[in-house]
Amino acid sequence: MNDQKVRVRFAPSPTGPLHMGGVRTALYNYLLARQTGGQMILRIEDTDQTRFVPGAEQYIIESLTWCGIQFDEGVHVGGPFGPYRQSDRKEIYVKYADELIANGHAYYAFDTPEELEALRAASPNFQYDSSTRVGLRNSLTLSAEEVSDLLNKAVPYVIRAKIPAGEEILVDDLIRGEVRVQSSVLDDKVLFKSDGMPTYHLANIVDDHLMEITHVIRGEEWLPSAPLHVLLYRFFGWNAPRFAHLPLLLKPDGNGKLSKRDGDRLGFPVFPLRWTDPKSGDVSSGYRESGYFPEAFVNLLALLGWNPGTEQEVFSMDELIRLFSLDRVNKAGAKFDPEKAKWFNQQYLRKLSDQQLTGLFVEQMSHNGVSIDENKALKVIPLVKDRVVFVSELWDQCWFFFQRPAAYDEGVVKKRWKADTGELILCLAERLVALPDFTQSSLEEEIKRFLEEKGVGMGVVMNALRLAMVGSGMGPHLLDIVVLLGKEEFISRVKLAVDSIKVN
Ligand code: GLU
Repeated sequence: MNDQKVRVRFAPSPTGPLHMGGVRTALYNYLLARQTGGQMILRIEDTDQTRFVPGAEQYIIESLTWCGIQFDEGVHVGGPFGPYRQSDRKEIYVKYADELIANGHAYYAFDTPEELEALRAASPNFQYDSSTRVGLRNSLTLSAEEVSDLLNKAVPYVIRAKIPAGEEILVDDLIRGEVRVQSSVLDDKVLFKSDGMPTYHLANIVDDHLMEITHVIRGEEWLPSAPLHVLLYRFFGWNAPRFAHLPLLLKPDGNGKLSKRDGDRLGFPVFPLRWTDPKSGDVSSGYRESGYFPEAFVNLLALLGWNPGTEQEVFSMDELIRLFSLDRVNKAGAKFDPEKAKWFNQQYLRKLSDQQLTGLFVEQMSHNGVSIDENKALKVIPLVKDRVVFVSELWDQCWFFFQRPAAYDEGVVKKRWKADTGELILCLAERLVALPDFTQSSLEEEIKRFLEEKGVGMGVVMNALRLAMVGSGMGPHLLDIVVLLGKEEFISRVKLAVDSIKVN
């Protein structure tokens, strides 16, 4: 790398919600920018008006903000190279399209969609290129007068790149090495459309040049476009940026690109935030709403394609910034594992202090309309936190510390509650609440004494007591529950169970 400052961009098209693969692309760009003290730019590529989706741009910005990916310049923060939305840069592209025509690297093509359709119907492999363009209606075959006549009459046209015949084009990719492509496989791509808008290819190259982008880091799906881009840089006489095409994210099962359908099928989100399709109203789940911490989401994305070269798996953003390198990005696709995604979330949940986790729990409960005593929660959460992956799962693990059971699990009743159980545990409970101190150790001793006296097994009373406290067979250590509930609540729950549970 020379001493030029790194300038990278994330350049999404606002055609829908941002796929997690897109977030990973943004992340890798961001990591390189921060590591090198360079600049990170957000450019919105909205030249294809037929695919524009309202709300998508805001969604993209909100998603990246949630992930902690910050921009130095861009559509939402401004900057010296703006505007950063391509639909606001139309005149710029006209000028550069004209320049390519003037220097003979592009031409007007007047073929109508119907004419092209007919050609494709007649020969399915048809492509507009050096061998076919000579027989078609374009400024290379028509006379100068005919061309200016058509232009004056505002006959619709497109501008196409004049791809040279018989050349080998070299794309030097930081991840894939040297990729060589024969120019004969490329078609004369449309650079400028009849609607007065450039295509992605022209706008992308012009903007990367004008915005002084040094590294183009993007998904592998753009690799087939890279030879055309290399040619366009040459046509303009510009230095091309360095290219790095990132491996695809693959389905958890089988091969192929990870899609929204895989998420629906296997029950995991593929989008960072929940998305409601403005047309159909269909809702797609998001990592944020599913309870993932943004740090966990970023961490799991970082490792989908990049390999740190060590066994370490949990990385903070600062560590990623320090350690990331394009050299360690794999060529092969990265298989997404939804179970591993959960594992990452669990690691982050466990990193929180009891105080922090309790705060999140209380906040989420109050959001759900349940007010929780924070001091009590602070004693409860440490007992159950190892059993969950998400904050939202805590309530199911600990609700019985805050509420009495309203019902008793029938299966457990059948198995654990015999005709004499009620009397037995009531007798025990009365002895326990009469103890001078209601602590784990004194309860334990008294229970042992009681069991010896009565000649019954530990399981009999403990399971019945658990049923009385929790309503089922679940939960942390029983005496932890009992001590935390306190004498009064303990005896009340025992009485309630004894009164309510009917044995057949
Ligand atoms: N607008 C393209 C996209 O939506 C950007 C590709 C690139 O980064 O060059 O992914």
